[in-house]
Amino acid sequence: ADTWSSVPLAPPDSIFKLTAAYKADPFPQKVNLGVGAYRDDDSKPWVLPVVKKATELLLNDPNLDHEYLPITGLPEFTSAAARLILGADSPAIAEGRVTSVQTISGTGANHLGALFLSRFYEYGPAGKQVYLSDPTWINHFAIFRNVQIEPLTYPYYDPKTIGLAYDAFLETLSSAPSRSVFLLHACAHNPTGVDPTKEQWGKIADVILEKGHYAFFDCAYQGFASGDLEGDAWAVREFVKRGVPLLVCQSFAKNAGLYGERVGALHVVATTTEAANRIKSQLSVLARSEISNPPAHGARLVSLILNDEKLFGEWKQDIQTMAGRIIAMRKELHRLLTEELKTPGNWDHIVNQIGMFRCVFSFLFVLV
Ligand code: PLP
Repeated sequence: ADTWSSVPLAPPDSIFKLTAAYKADPFPQKVNLGVGAYRDDDSKPWVLPVVKKATELLLNDPNLDHEYLPITGLPEFTSAAARLILGADSPAIAEGRVTSVQTISGTGANHLGALFLSRFYEYGPAGKQVYLSDPTWINHFAIFRNVQIEPLTYPYYDPKTIGLAYDAFLETLSSAPSRSVFLLHACAHNPTGVDPTKEQWGKIADVILEKGHYAFFDCAYQGFASGDLEGDAWAVREFVKRGVPLLVCQSFAKNAGLYGERVGALHVVATTTEAANRIKSQLSVLARSEISNPPAHGARLVSLILNDEKLFGEWKQDIQTMAGRIIAMRKELHRLLTEELKTPGNWDHIVNQIGMFRCVFSFLFVLV
């Protein structure tokens, strides 16, 4: 008998299937609205000038070798990555309460964070569960199911207002059993482009604290939302300031254009240095069994950029180029729909939403 006769055929990933179909399509005016990857004015992938420069520096470094990195990653990278998301002046970092581990980009950070919770979080009687926004990045469901955590959803997007389902979101936060885990998109929510305002974030933090919930932040777009690295980290830093128990998954795929290098980090903010050390020891055990050591190249590039004032300045310029283009595209689409095509309806959400998402759906509506 065939050993694998009972393995069912899984459907291909819809987004990557679309990318393959796009590549195969000879139509010259084709546009790929599927995968969340930045494109320049010629619809081409953009290698950030600062990344080109860092690559050259790295390749010309006579001390470059290809040894293994430590299990938890390149220390200069993880410490700079923590400062980037939590703030250079973060008291949590100064107090030694932050554990940072290098991961296989944002996906790996989500996985390691989920695996850590699955092993060590003290869940209530309802068992291992996580609340995801409705809708969310589709991979969140599989990532949590893989580690035996059941995904539930909380209301997030209100199609009537094309905005945040704020009241219903708060209601779910309040009614969820205490010590529930809520996954929050730090900025540029995927796939809606709808983020809470600062005031709304404040209220969300209040309820999370009151109920003793845990905040699982996913930050895949720092700098992409507004062009401002600091501004896009606001919610995470505010939650840390208020003492909300949390972790942050960080990706450099989008903001450094390092999609294929798989460079990211998981940061767990603990209440004491001693707790942070215990957490790090366990994350190290988990990482060792899964990947042994993270990949070096992308982490070295990002480390060079984050730890050199001049390169860091150039990176911020590159980020502004990308965020600026996205914002300009939204404005132009809005102008075409309203002024030029006089399309019925209100299209303001296209300019009010943030990041790469959602406006494409509205655009598709117009095309169909
Ligand atoms: N989280 C969110 C919300 C995302 O949109 C993405 C990518 O699209 C990721 C995480 C992970 O991306 P990567 O693994 O490429 O860093």
